[in-house]
Amino acid sequence: MKFKKIGLLGAAVVGTFMATSAVQAETFVTIGTGGQTGVYYQVGGAICRLVNKGTAKHGIKCTHTTGGSVGNINGIRAGDLDMGVAQSDWQYHAYNGSAPDQFPDGAFKDLRAVFSVHPEPFTVVVRTDSGIKSFDDLKGKRVNVGNPGSGQRGTMEVVMKKMGWTMGDFTLASELKSSEQSAALCDNKIDAMIFTVGHPNGSIQEASTSCDSMLVNADNDVIKKLASDNDYYAMATIPGGMYKGTDNDVTTFGVGATFVASTKTSADVVYEIVKAVFEDMKRFRKMHPAFGNLDPALMIKNNLSAPLHEGAVRYYKEKGMM
Ligand code: GLU
Repeated sequence: MKFKKIGLLGAAVVGTFMATSAVQAETFVTIGTGGQTGVYYQVGGAICRLVNKGTAKHGIKCTHTTGGSVGNINGIRAGDLDMGVAQSDWQYHAYNGSAPDQFPDGAFKDLRAVFSVHPEPFTVVVRTDSGIKSFDDLKGKRVNVGNPGSGQRGTMEVVMKKMGWTMGDFTLASELKSSEQSAALCDNKIDAMIFTVGHPNGSIQEASTSCDSMLVNADNDVIKKLASDNDYYAMATIPGGMYKGTDNDVTTFGVGATFVASTKTSADVVYEIVKAVFEDMKRFRKMHPAFGNLDPALMIKNNLSAPLHEGAVRYYKEKGMM
């Protein structure tokens, strides 16, 4: 696993003076997040900032990487990441082994939930001049379906399969990362981009302020059925007025962002991370507008399909939350 206990017991030589300082052993923790203009990157950054405030006390130093739900879960499984952010649908499929394309090694029974975070509507942003009025109009258009490893790419493939679509139904199916897609939309390289993400976010703000673009509904019968048949999906609304060019509410379906680890992630580390976040919840909520409505009671039960990590349970029980 990635926890490197590094004893920094050492001697610092400054000029002719020798100062010996006993520094607490440090444990490095890496959290898998998402593209810089999404919200996962902010989740990871916010968690690390709260954790790193207490490094002198608990010895944990936290850093975060970019990636996406599926890549994060596979990274945790491979031991490259200690924890990560993942969509509720991919948490479910990884734990249950129900998505062999994304998780070829089968059910990941060591996956553990830590807490859930913000809602993530499946968001379709289109150029206003593309003629696309709703998700169904994407057929025959240039669409960024997302990079492999991202949650939106996987969720888009699920919807496409249910619709009976293949990549060949688009004149172009690009695989740009979330941080690249707004520029591609505004440079007229694509007609539409798909992003399963919390709102408001920098990526869609970039698209809506740099060129004429808008959000469209993804609420056909296939999508409504998907949402009602599966607990890890729900219908969702993106409020009108949040982005330039989109004045009316947008109806779509969505998932929840969750924070996950594995049984191999140290219980003490998970305990300290959960404690750092929950004891500073007021500050955490202020770190991103998408966190504004987070309710600790719901964070420990909504959208979690893998069992809770024992380090998280220790904290929640200690606080009488469960
Ligand atoms: N839901 C996206 C994914 O799983 C990431 C969203 C974000 O970066 O905030 O890849």
